[in-house]
Amino acid sequence: MTSAIDLRSDTVSRPSDAMRAAMAVAPVGDDVFGDDPTVALLEERAAEVMGKEAAVFVPSGTMANLVAVLTHTKPGDEIILGDQNHIFQYELAGAARFGGVITHALPNEANGALDPNQVAAAIRREDMHAPGSTLLCLENTHNRCGGAAVPVETISVLADVAHQRKLSVHLDGARIFNAAAALGVPARQIAESCDSVSFCLSKGLGCPIGSVLCGSHDFVQRARRNRKMLGGGMRQVGIIAAAGLYALENNVTRLAEDHANARALADGLRELGPFRPNSPETNIVIVDIVRGSLDGWLDAFAREGVQGVAFGPQRMRLVTHINITRADIDDALGRIQAAVGATAV
Ligand SMILES: *Cc1c(COP(=O)(O)O)cnc(C)c1O
Repeated sequence: MTSAIDLRSDTVSRPSDAMRAAMAVAPVGDDVFGDDPTVALLEERAAEVMGKEAAVFVPSGTMANLVAVLTHTKPGDEIILGDQNHIFQYELAGAARFGGVITHALPNEANGALDPNQVAAAIRREDMHAPGSTLLCLENTHNRCGGAAVPVETISVLADVAHQRKLSVHLDGARIFNAAAALGVPARQIAESCDSVSFCLSKGLGCPIGSVLCGSHDFVQRARRNRKMLGGGMRQVGIIAAAGLYALENNVTRLAEDHANARALADGLRELGPFRPNSPETNIVIVDIVRGSLDGWLDAFAREGVQGVAFGPQRMRLVTHINITRADIDDALGRIQAAVGATAV
């Protein structure tokens, strides 16, 4: 049997030979001493791309978000965020456990945004009884909202509401380059109204590891101490920063291909009957199952060599990425059609 078409996540993407070659020759040093020239270069490039003064390289998007929360808040503070945000759904309450902050989660709109009136109403001033809200966290693209690309204007309206009341704003931009491609604007424009922004190198950009957290000089200096505290101070990691530099140079403009592939996948699935896919704006296809069970379909897909993940009781997620070609999408649709044919529902 031919190999499985892995659509579980864009994190399954593998480093290319050219990326590995760049990694092999990267100059390195002890980055905790500030000696690694490749890490320094990646941080400089990342800051530039995001339009911020400085940046710090971290092992994962989860650590980037946690470092951001720790750096923007003090224990006893409150952060406001969407109830579908990665920080709220998938980061094991790290903000509460390590930052001592509580989260006030507001319902995300279908397009990944928050209602500015609800944000304004949620903000609390610290007093004898109440914790103070000090941070608003936004996400773009919005994973659980089907990879929605939140418009620049929407982000800036929400950031203004927060800033007027003296809150900082962190943007979880794990897939911000997908948002930039979908919206047709540079990533820095999306992040402009936010005090900090993080993005993943290990997803659509095809790196084996890494995220970058960007912000002001002062913010990043303090973030470095929090990264060290969490065990994220790394040594000769120019070897992985080189993959990030390679990706920023070579793997950003191609993201539009992943989006076209996701649209083709959704269009094909819609024809088959049991599935109601979203109309993907980026590389995430969310499929509501209208006939049969989610587990049954995940198994049936897997038997035909197509891998997805559960994303709700009757919902599957399929993600396109750098290792998935248009031919793979056609192949996947053929296999899924075979699965439908073999399944009596
Ligand atoms: C994947 C993801 C993260 C976390 O990144 P990891 O590198 O997996 O820890 C954070 N936010 C969003 C929106 C993500 O999709």
